Amino acid sequence: MNHTDQVFKAVDQLWEEQIGFLQQLGRYKSTLHNEGPIQRFLADTFRDMQLETDCFIPDLKMMASHKEFSPVEWTYDNRPVVVAKWVSNGPKRGKSLIVQGHVDVVSPEPVRLWNYDPWGATIEGDRMYGRGIMDMKAGVSAMIYAVKAIQASGIELSADLLIETVLEEECTGNGALATLVKGYVADGALIPEPSGHGVSLSQVGVIWFRVRITGAGAHVSGKAKSINAIEKAYVLIQALGRYSDKINNAPKHPEFGHVNHPLNVNIGVIKGGDWPSTVPADCYFEVRAGLYPGQDPQDVKDDVLAWLLEAASQDEWLREVPPEITFFGFHANGVVIDPKEELFSVLESAHGKVLDEPMQYRSGLTALTDIRHYNLYYNIPATCYGPRGGNIHSADEWVDLPSLKACTKVYAAFILEWCGVRDVSVE
Ligand SMILES: [Zn+2]
Repeated sequence: MNHTDQVFKAVDQLWEEQIGFLQQLGRYKSTLHNEGPIQRFLADTFRDMQLETDCFIPDLKMMASHKEFSPVEWTYDNRPVVVAKWVSNGPKRGKSLIVQGHVDVVSPEPVRLWNYDPWGATIEGDRMYGRGIMDMKAGVSAMIYAVKAIQASGIELSADLLIETVLEEECTGNGALATLVKGYVADGALIPEPSGHGVSLSQVGVIWFRVRITGAGAHVSGKAKSINAIEKAYVLIQALGRYSDKINNAPKHPEFGHVNHPLNVNIGVIKGGDWPSTVPADCYFEVRAGLYPGQDPQDVKDDVLAWLLEAASQDEWLREVPPEITFFGFHANGVVIDPKEELFSVLESAHGKVLDEPMQYRSGLTALTDIRHYNLYYNIPATCYGPRGGNIHSADEWVDLPSLKACTKVYAAFILEWCGVRDVSVE
């Protein structure tokens, strides 16, 4: 039996264990600020695999000057990033690799819309349901069980392999950045984000910001003299609607020519008021806005700020009491990857050993992932390749289990080919 078949057999043998492992991951409520327990569990998993494991707190001081650093309003206390290294002991013949996944998940709210417990990791037929199961704990299980299968087959690699689990992919990307700033680099990187067995060639960048409006509150009976902060927020939300039209009607980045609405401007949070009979004096909303590869996030922030202040200047109240605009979270560049990178041909070959369908190359992704850091700043070719499923960031998120098993095999085959198998007889 050749190495690949041997390892595929091991993936099959470990499959039940992998499903149980994914259920364990799915039961951690690893939303923002709550990633500590799952990260410590993963660090223990890696130590049990005899990997050199570094479980460390991201160093804000080291990251702060980086161009891709996203400003945060919180600390990293008790929220480690984990890097586990499988060091090759022989001559380095292959290429080193990073496989990386994020453990942070978005909130399952509104939970009332779910038919399954968001933290139950329920299996029904070929599907497993839960918040974060698809995005991207399934992928995390794939990259780990690919390595376990290689280890179980008694195979040693001829290049170093790093397994990394990070946080804040969903809001800053600072977790992935922390690993790179600390010096964890390799000849290539793969992220098993749920890509439905396709690869990503280009992705947007993203900024986040908060707009806070102060009104003049009073009891509704005196409404003539009071200014409703929620109603004034609506003035600025409409202005952002016009901003969205402007940027999407402008000539598109060539990678996004086929995309109908590439740059989404999403009002994701709104809060204001606390009593039906009181005119709210305070309201804020939080926004995510996309940008094209090659656009500097700082320039986009400057544009948004000018646009909102211009809209405020047209309003009698907002002219006098301008909105407070704060940029926090994502300060992320878009990215384009060269499809001629060897990473893709090796991945296509691994994919072909497992699946009967051609591997799809996808440009113009309107979302972002951590691949940008590797490609843009560290000269590490990186892409996403992961399983199939549905309902990411919404109710009844699920992964297709046969697809996850196939994905695990693709990762195993990729690692064997990319890193090379150590052959003691020729050393
Ligand atoms: Zn994700």
